[in-house]
Formats: sequence, structure tokens, C-alpha cells
Amino acid sequence: MNNSVENKIIVITGASSGMGEAAARHLASMGATVVLGARRIDRIEKLVSEIKENGGEALALATDVTNKDDVKNLVDTAINTYGRIDVLINNAGVMPLSMFESIKVDEWDQMIDVNIKGVLYGIAAALPHMIEQKAGHIINTASVAAHLIFPASSVYSATKFAVRALTDGLRQEVTSHNIRTTLISPGAVNTELLDHISDKDVQSANQEYVGEVGIPASSYADMVAFAIGQPENVDVNEIIFRPTAQAL
Ligand code: NDP
Repeated sequence: MNNSVENKIIVITGASSGMGEAAARHLASMGATVVLGARRIDRIEKLVSEIKENGGEALALATDVTNKDDVKNLVDTAINTYGRIDVLINNAGVMPLSMFESIKVDEWDQMIDVNIKGVLYGIAAALPHMIEQKAGHIINTASVAAHLIFPASSVYSATKFAVRALTDGLRQEVTSHNIRTTLISPGAVNTELLDHISDKDVQSANQEYVGEVGIPASSYADMVAFAIGQPENVDVNEIIFRPTAQAL
């Protein structure tokens, strides 16, 4: 297995916008083959065309991470097409922030389904192959909200705390299989994430803040490339990064 990004087979969920898209573009430009999953197939197919026009290799598959068969199909297609999976980036996520008193139970369900169960389905799909390969790397996108809670973030924070917990448990269990795990916790990054907040007051407060301090999605791509690019016996377990101007 290579110790650098080049020639690695990297599966990325949530690759149709924001940080997943930026990571796909960056890793492909570094010579990785990227296998992209998201529901908006038109967006990831367009990204695949762009990557191929620039001399890279990529594949897109319509994937809803709340459907375990979709996630298994994404990983299995990577294996069947390219022979192995070096890295899985469980990046798909949603953040419809709201106060408890709004009782947005459907959005609570959605956050649990995408942010927690989606990550678990990714692990379920990739881990058996990585154990067999005796190598692999699972990167889970958490958030600074995996480390703190603020009003309207409770359920989102709970899902990201869960991702943080399960990533460290996974790390402890898979060291003997030569599998690396990395938890990446971004602060405010300019993406489409806030578009889906249905509470307009919460949305505008967050848009104002992220608009003021937010950093580009390329910052995430750089973090992912750093973690993947380490020698095989070095595991970057956790990265927290924020805009310099972000206090929270
Ligand atoms: P975006 O909204 O730009 O991207 C989210 C991605 O997740 C999209 O590609 C979307 O694809 C995908 N997604 C959502 N639901 C599903 C689903 N059911 N199945 C498959 N894919 C899905 O936001 P970001 O780039 O900001 O978010 C990426 C990750 O970063 C998330 O986990 C988020 O929680 C986390 N994060 C973001 C921060 C920020 O400030 N932006 C800060 C901290 C963490 P599609 O809709 O096409 O399915």
C-alpha cells in the first residue's frame, strides 16, 4: 500500500457539495482515484467529468447514506472496479439546527439517520474489506459541535458526539488490523450546510456568523490530504480546525 495520497482508492460520501466536493477535487488532483457518493447524481457526475478532463480517475454513484444497501453498493463498486479501498471518508451530513421547543422531530430523525447511521453503514461496508486487506483508513467528519453544545445545536451536537465516540472506539478495535481512523472536526466552513435550516431565525443568525468568519471548503481538503498522506505507521487520530476568528 502506498504511503502517500497518489494511487489510493478513496471513497467519499457527501461529495456533491461543500467539503466532500473540495476533498474529491483535491485528492484527485494529487493522483488518488475517487469514488463519489451523494444523492444528487448530476452534481457528482459533473465532478467526475471535470476530474477526468484534468487527467484524474473518478466514479460517481447515486448514494443515500440512510440506505445501507446504497452504501454497501458504493464501497463494493469501488472494490469491484479498482480492486481495493484504501480510504473511506464518511463525510455526508446534515445540520438542520433548531431549538427543542420547535419540536422538529423529523429533522431530529434525519440528523440521526444521516450523521450517525450513515457513518455506521459506511463502516459496515468498508471494514470487512479493510480487515481482509490488512490495511485501510476510515475518516469520519464530525464538527466542533462534537466537542461543544450551544442553543439549537443539541441534536446535531449529539450526533457528532456520537461520531466522535464511535470513531475512537473503532480506532481502539482496529489497530491490530493495521487500519487507521481519523476524526476531523471542522469549525465554520462556507458550504451549503446552512441552506437546509428550516427555522429562519436560527438560519439567518448562523448565516451571518459563518458569512463573517467562515473559511473555504479547501481547508478541509487540505486536512484530509494531510491525514491520508502520513506514512502507514502514523495515524492522525483527530484534527480540529476552525477559522482563526472563531472563538466558539
Ligand atoms: P454541504 O451541505 O455542502 O454538503 C453535505 C453533503 O452531504 C452533500 O454532498 C450532500 O449530498 C450530502 N448528504 C446529505 N444527506 C445525504 C444523504 N442522505 N445521503 C448521501 N449524502 C447526503 O455541507 P458541508 O460540506 O459543510 O458538510 C459536510 C460535513 O461537514 C457534514 O458532515 C457536516 O455536518 C460537517 N461539518 C460542516 C461544517 C461547516 O461549517 N460547513 C462544520 C462542521 C462540520 P446530497 O444532498 O447530494 O445527497
